[in-house]
Amino acid sequence: MFDYNKRLNRALEFFDECTHILILGGPGLGYEVGLFTYGADMDPDLHPYMAKYLLFNIENGFQVLPDPALPAFYAKYRKVFYDNIPDSKVHADLFDLVRRKHYFVMQCNPDRTFEKAKFPPENIFYMAGDAHLLQCANACCAKVFEMPSAEELLSGTPLPVCPECGGKTRINLDTFPDKNFVPSPTFTEQIQKHHSFVRRARKRKLLILELGCSIRNHFGLCAMQISEYLARRFPGVRVIRINRHEALSFERTSEQTALFDEPIARVVADMLSARPAPKRGRPKAPTPSVRPRQR
Ligand SMILES: [Zn+2]
Repeated sequence: MFDYNKRLNRALEFFDECTHILILGGPGLGYEVGLFTYGADMDPDLHPYMAKYLLFNIENGFQVLPDPALPAFYAKYRKVFYDNIPDSKVHADLFDLVRRKHYFVMQCNPDRTFEKAKFPPENIFYMAGDAHLLQCANACCAKVFEMPSAEELLSGTPLPVCPECGGKTRINLDTFPDKNFVPSPTFTEQIQKHHSFVRRARKRKLLILELGCSIRNHFGLCAMQISEYLARRFPGVRVIRINRHEALSFERTSEQTALFDEPIARVVADMLSARPAPKRGRPKAPTPSVRPRQR
């Protein structure tokens, strides 16, 4: 089904039918708002690290940078992906689209774009962990604590040592090969909320929105595995996969999926245009089918 409007109408049918929406936010969604994790479009503050340390992507930096370079790297990473998040129309449109349903977000990048667009934090699972927290690098204890601010780190404040063993600390992200990630109490609570959402939703009408998710693991998440597992187990599950940067594939393309390689912003804006949300509150019944805008 190559025609865009036909695929969009299928996506709208899935949206009208569903009661619950699971949003899987991937790196491609970040790219659309300027949060690049590799390549020439990387934020200028982070680009020098790519050249100097020959990083394949920004996640490599957490693993291969020497200790003296880490505080400034953490500070710059934190400024780009946590403290100074850009305004995002695609996230705002997405919020207006999904807020009339039960929804939950699995965000594989640790950036805060969803929260900035008014998604309630209690509806978000940050699968990669928290970019503003530190933990013991040896995972000797379950403690996590606030990282010094970007300004403090850039002005020479060293990373604190572990309060239990006195060893090194590091960023609380699940991106290291040693599996020493320490789940914070918030992280554990988010996992429980995610499980409980999927348990409630999977036997009802669950729509999975895969937005720019990598076909490979990214920060430990392979979104396609999650969607395909749920779609295989539960015939009522539908999937809208929007992936502009990588080849699209899905075994059950005929019935359960709508595939897009257009920009996420375009597809979400067209869905919202066909299913406009009221200014306030939660919209009630879906509106009748409307022919999408021609481009
Ligand atoms: Zn320790």
